[in-house]
Amino acid sequence: MTSQQEEPLTIDGRWDIPYRHTAGQAASRFFRELKENKRIVGGRCPSCRRVLVPPRSFCERCFVPVEEWVEVGDKGTLETFTIVYAQFTSLPPPPYCVGVIKLDGADTGLIHYVGGVDLQDLEAAKKALSVGMRLQAVWRDQREGKITDIEYFTPA
Ligand SMILES: [Zn+2]
Repeated sequence: MTSQQEEPLTIDGRWDIPYRHTAGQAASRFFRELKENKRIVGGRCPSCRRVLVPPRSFCERCFVPVEEWVEVGDKGTLETFTIVYAQFTSLPPPPYCVGVIKLDGADTGLIHYVGGVDLQDLEAAKKALSVGMRLQAVWRDQREGKITDIEYFTPA
């Protein structure tokens, strides 16, 4: 035995884990509204009055239950975004854009794809996208009760 520290080994591997879990009350309502009524709903906190989208069962600031449902618009403002040029497992082929969109009537941002913009040319994409720009949802005709029932948000 030596007191010298040995280099740790690395082990390559891959996780591919199918799973199923309950969406919970708030997310179930949110996804059903997308599918059945083509509406986006949030929850209004009874304490701070913020409209949380997507809705959650508890306000993370006030620690109180959120039980009031509020319909918000399917248009909103781009708060921030990134354009992805690398391939990631289970995500679309690049390039694609992911943004945080604050929907009209909401006080929080929804993370979603931003589309309808040519992303192949980065310089052109940088001109076409900007924080503060208006976006609107592009809905799928066949909806399944998933966040991807909104295909992406496009410049309005
Ligand atoms: Zn609150």
